[in-house]
Amino acid sequence: MTMISNIEIECGVCGKESMQRALLSTNSFGTPDLDFRPPGMSRNTMNTWIFECPHCGYVASRLDEKPEIDSDFIKTDKYINCDGFEFEKELAERFFKGYLIANEKDNTRESFFNLLHCAWACDDGEDIENARKIRKLSLGYLDEMIQMGGEEKDNFVLMKADLLRRSGEFDRVVEEYTDIILGDELLDKIITFQIIKARQKDDACYTVEDVNNDMHLSRN
Ligand SMILES: [Zn+2]
Repeated sequence: MTMISNIEIECGVCGKESMQRALLSTNSFGTPDLDFRPPGMSRNTMNTWIFECPHCGYVASRLDEKPEIDSDFIKTDKYINCDGFEFEKELAERFFKGYLIANEKDNTRESFFNLLHCAWACDDGEDIENARKIRKLSLGYLDEMIQMGGEEKDNFVLMKADLLRRSGEFDRVVEEYTDIILGDELLDKIITFQIIKARQKDDACYTVEDVNNDMHLSRN
């Protein structure tokens, strides 16, 4: 079961304390979405992934640690006003600020994941236009991660197909993915599924189970 507890955390920027919700344990039943968003209960724990100091506005997954950037950055208009984005959900705003800090310290991976989580928070708030814009913004960081290669590359390639389709870039999914074979049955089925949905101009959210239940997958 999911257990959340309130804990007092001292801010790494202003030194003041605040009560924050910390995740003690969680579990998940079901299969993830095609952008790796976890199912079930653990998807409802997003508000424990990132914290905001109510005194100075600093946002971090470890609020007690000092930021690696000049802390004056959190006083800039860009940070305070989320670079012009007006989000429906406070949680989306928090992840976006996490992204701005990550981007400021040139951390591609952290920038990408904060944007992805921001998009999920937008989805939950039915903030459709911002969800689309944030997914598009995340693609540049994801491309960098794909170029870097490494063990997770195939996962990133899969994620990119979903981000493209869900931000309405249907033609790019078809163009960029039709010839991609990763050599793993499930992963290649997921790509085929993405191509079919992109051809149908379908930008909805699907899970791995939806792919497994689709018996008629063919790229032709
Ligand atoms: Zn603070």
